[in-house]
Amino acid sequence: MLGLAAAMAAVPLRGRAQIPANPDVIVIGAGMAGLSAAKSLRRAGYAVLVVEARDRLGGRAVTDTASFGQPYDLGAMWLHSADINPLIPIAEELGFAVTEDEGELLLYLAGKEATDAERSALASALERITQQLEETAKSGKDIAAAEVLGERDRWSAIAGAMIGPIEHGVETKNLSIVDWYAQVSSGIEILLRDGLGGLVAAYGRDASVVLGTAVRKIDWRGPRVALEVDGGALEARAVVVTVSTGVLAAGGLAFIPALPATKREAIAANPMGLVDKFAFKLPPELLKIPAGASLIAQGANGTVIDCLVRPFGYDYLMAFVGGDLAWELERQGEKAATEFVRRHLRDATGIDFAKHSTTGHATRWGADPWARGAFSASRPGSAHRRSAIAEPLGERVFFAGEATVADWPTQLPGAYLSGRSVAEKVIKVLKKPA
Ligand SMILES: Cc1cc2nc3c(=O)[nH]c(=O)nc-3n(C[C@H](O)[C@H](O)[C@H](O)COP(=O)(O)OP(=O)(O)OC[C@H]3O[C@@H](n4cnc5c(N)ncnc54)[C@H](O)[C@@H]3O)c2cc1C
Repeated sequence: MLGLAAAMAAVPLRGRAQIPANPDVIVIGAGMAGLSAAKSLRRAGYAVLVVEARDRLGGRAVTDTASFGQPYDLGAMWLHSADINPLIPIAEELGFAVTEDEGELLLYLAGKEATDAERSALASALERITQQLEETAKSGKDIAAAEVLGERDRWSAIAGAMIGPIEHGVETKNLSIVDWYAQVSSGIEILLRDGLGGLVAAYGRDASVVLGTAVRKIDWRGPRVALEVDGGALEARAVVVTVSTGVLAAGGLAFIPALPATKREAIAANPMGLVDKFAFKLPPELLKIPAGASLIAQGANGTVIDCLVRPFGYDYLMAFVGGDLAWELERQGEKAATEFVRRHLRDATGIDFAKHSTTGHATRWGADPWARGAFSASRPGSAHRRSAIAEPLGERVFFAGEATVADWPTQLPGAYLSGRSVAEKVIKVLKKPA
């Protein structure tokens, strides 16, 4: 196996000047959790190296500027509950303009725009269901959202599709209401004109990261942790693992000794939900649709797809597909999936959003080997098991990431806070930099 210097010579580096030759801590993953952990540890004086499988920073927060020539977030996009979101001050400090998402709501049902009465019926159903979910979750009963939704009328079916597959990436029968409640929004939603992925990349700019290098094995038998990485070997006093529960469950990252049963069960009880995005450049005649509108399109067969139209006046529409349908569309392949979404939008709204469109883009977060889904979703009865994912191994291997927290689970701020809190745990154990 190669030594650290040889391993690093073989891979693209970011911030090469600051790459520590003998790190106290190695952080696996340069998403929000890993970057936040690395920066906190470095501030405390530790030598930290981040090892990232992709050739970029940000993990599940990434802004694509190539597809449309305009910022387009492939993963995280909204800063939810902006009045309390810890990333708002960071965005402001880094000079990112924050804009409240106050887009109009457009509702289309089986080929026609909904009437005012239909829109209010949906709004009332959403309010009623949210209240019922909140009351049950507050009582501590961690049951499936589907049980609270009960018998479906037309409106609660749309509300259920929004709450389950589209917002949480799972069907409501697989959505823990305690986990849902942990993410309840205060209602103030922020979008960044330059993209949320861009913010995470800017935040991590000064971290010492080795890109394009996957960690394959973590051996934590000895007093130091030994890592097998693509093209070499690394070691450190402590390691912070920030990969998703999807990556952990898939087993491509081996642990020696193996992960304890309680942790493996907690990972299995918090599997990945899936939300994919399909974006189409709009034809000129559709650029009159209000910029930033949120569009819900229910087809005659009941399928619901939600869209964000022309954020910031950009000339594309972004459709969100979640839950079982998203997994099925990934199985069918990009061409068939894109055609499905395009046809659904045309049939459900009566408008051909992708008419003449040669420019489009579809994400495949489920097939992405470094994510294996969009975000974790606690199975009913399992929200409390997120803490077992965070449990360290032998005071040497620590865990962070959106799936490890009780506050803001699944979201970018949860990842950020998990990075800060894991840094505190590491500091307590290591006591001082070597
Ligand atoms: C479609 C979508 C929409 C979303 N919308 C929002 C939103 O609007 N608001 C919000 O707050 N959140 C949203 N999220 C969730 C948010 O993106 C995540 O919670 C957050 O990015 C997770 O950060 P993390 O650091 O925990 O994990 P990640 O970002 O996944 O970081 C882990 C890193 O580890 C790397 N890695 C994996 N395996 C290895 C390995 N073996 N070796 C080395 N590196 C490895 C990965 O490449 C990755 O960079 C969305 C996510 C998706 C996918």
